[in-house]
Amino acid sequence: MIRYLQLGVSLSPLQKWKTHLLVSSLLVPSTSSAASHLGLFSPPLLPLNRRYYRHHPLQMSSSFSPSNHDSDIASSSSSSSSTILTPPMVHKPKTKFCQSCGGQTKLVVPEGEEKLRAVCTLCNKIYYENPKMVVGCLVEHNNKVLLCRRKIEPSYGLWTLPAGYMELGESAAEGAARETLEEACAEVEVVSPFAQLDIPLIGQSYIIFHAKLKKPHFSPGPESLECALFDLHDIPYDSLAFSSVYVTLKMYADDIKNGKIKFHYCTINKRPGASPSDTQSFAVCNHLCM
Ligand SMILES: [Zn+2]
Repeated sequence: MIRYLQLGVSLSPLQKWKTHLLVSSLLVPSTSSAASHLGLFSPPLLPLNRRYYRHHPLQMSSSFSPSNHDSDIASSSSSSSSTILTPPMVHKPKTKFCQSCGGQTKLVVPEGEEKLRAVCTLCNKIYYENPKMVVGCLVEHNNKVLLCRRKIEPSYGLWTLPAGYMELGESAAEGAARETLEEACAEVEVVSPFAQLDIPLIGQSYIIFHAKLKKPHFSPGPESLECALFDLHDIPYDSLAFSSVYVTLKMYADDIKNGKIKFHYCTINKRPGASPSDTQSFAVCNHLCM
């Protein structure tokens, strides 16, 4: 049951929510150790704690262990009775017109389902809206990482990893390398997957690859104001474009500090109402690494 909850397998959000309430008393620190014994994952950052909080980059520890979070969170994650839970998010479908017949859509819950869908009022076609995949590279060169300063909105002028939407007809790794070429004019060799980050609030899933420069050349592409290699101690955490970039760089800095680059999975739960480019209001949940 714990594994289902942590990995989000099989259960619908409503089922997970109900199960979560039933077993919340079990989700105390012992959950982490039990899971570790099973070899399923490392102790999660915030075990199923859906409480939102505000990150302060300069105060945030470089470590992702629960003990390094602010006392508010530490206390809530160690006591099920004080944990504040939020129900699963309900997304309102955005498809207004049918792409097959041009008819208007209406929002209904189709028979046998439990989510609202946009359904064509003329031909009854059901529109399933799914998350988008974003792929990118964490390019390391001489112990520095390559960042690009955005020349486009959102987050104009802020620093990001080269990344963008995966295209049809390409693999995730190919897409990550393509984005790096487009944004930083850099040819890279993808070394390994580094992180998958899900952001349910904005319907995005990131796959970030660890990569190396094939040649020590890079320059800003059309979507970048400038590109630069940053020492891990000089990363501009106050001027990053997206929470996904913030989390990725923190994880990478931790791995380097600990002497081993791992593969990470986590969910970034942004505060409801936060804009996509608000890098400061989020909670990292279900952090798994290997
Ligand atoms: Zn239609």
